[in-house]
Amino acid sequence: MFNRKLSLLLKVVSIILAVGVSSVSISLLVGITRLDQLLGIQKQKSDTAKTSSDRAMGASAQSITPATVQMNEVPKPFEGTIIYQAKLKANEKVIALTFDDGPSPKNTAQILEILKKNNIKATFFMVGQMVKYFPQVAKQVAADGHVIGNHTWHHWYFQMDGATASSEIDRTADIIYKTTGEKTTLFRPPGGFLNNGLAQYAKNQKYAVMMWSEQSGDAERRSPQVPMLVKNVLKQAKPGAIVLLHDGGGNRSKSVKALPEMIAGLKAQGYRFVTIPQLLEMQAKEESAVTAASSVTTNHEHPNHQ
Ligand SMILES: [Zn+2]
Repeated sequence: MFNRKLSLLLKVVSIILAVGVSSVSISLLVGITRLDQLLGIQKQKSDTAKTSSDRAMGASAQSITPATVQMNEVPKPFEGTIIYQAKLKANEKVIALTFDDGPSPKNTAQILEILKKNNIKATFFMVGQMVKYFPQVAKQVAADGHVIGNHTWHHWYFQMDGATASSEIDRTADIIYKTTGEKTTLFRPPGGFLNNGLAQYAKNQKYAVMMWSEQSGDAERRSPQVPMLVKNVLKQAKPGAIVLLHDGGGNRSKSVKALPEMIAGLKAQGYRFVTIPQLLEMQAKEESAVTAASSVTTNHEHPNHQ
């Protein structure tokens, strides 16, 4: 056993030595990662390097040509932060609908139909293994112009180490990209848990960790009946709100039934609907306008700044 490992180690070392001087540093990163895997060492500190090199390799070795290539990046100030809602002016009546735990064959298709009828773009936080099972549904979500976010591979809640957290998020990002062409910078932690290692990893990878400001209650164990789901959403509506709904993770027929009424009620209150990146873009613009207007004051805000 030891001899086998040693010979593999020697092979890896000789491969590294064989590579030209200009790419020695990259090769070392990759080599070290592979070495760790060969020797069975779980090395959390190398996760970041592993991920970025894996991503780079994944992108260059892309075999599936996505139907549409969309970049749905969040504005820079939101990278690596946790967001519950956008902070907008009181007269900016915009709201973002988000759907978690899909794609699922029946409910997601029904929701897409309702959104299309109402000319609404929403954000779908997908579970990696569901994308694997239902790639056509995921493709349809992207083809309809919706934004896709990362909701991990297994939807686990428990405490996890860096390697597990990275696998949960990176595998999901990969399958979303390979299936739909969307590169997402949005992450939503399963169950909204922020302390089990996932959100920390996502923040380190510059994802915007997207929570919500409004719950319909559609995923509660004894979820309310349709009129109550509608009422929950309408009574909490405010500019910049992020509404949590579900298109997967169980039978979501109540969510599907409630959606047209929620949309009609919000429209009656004067709201229009945007995706999460659009919502954050609006906040970023408002903030930069405020900063520009008060740039003199801003300069004096941090007198001790070196
Ligand atoms: Zn979920």
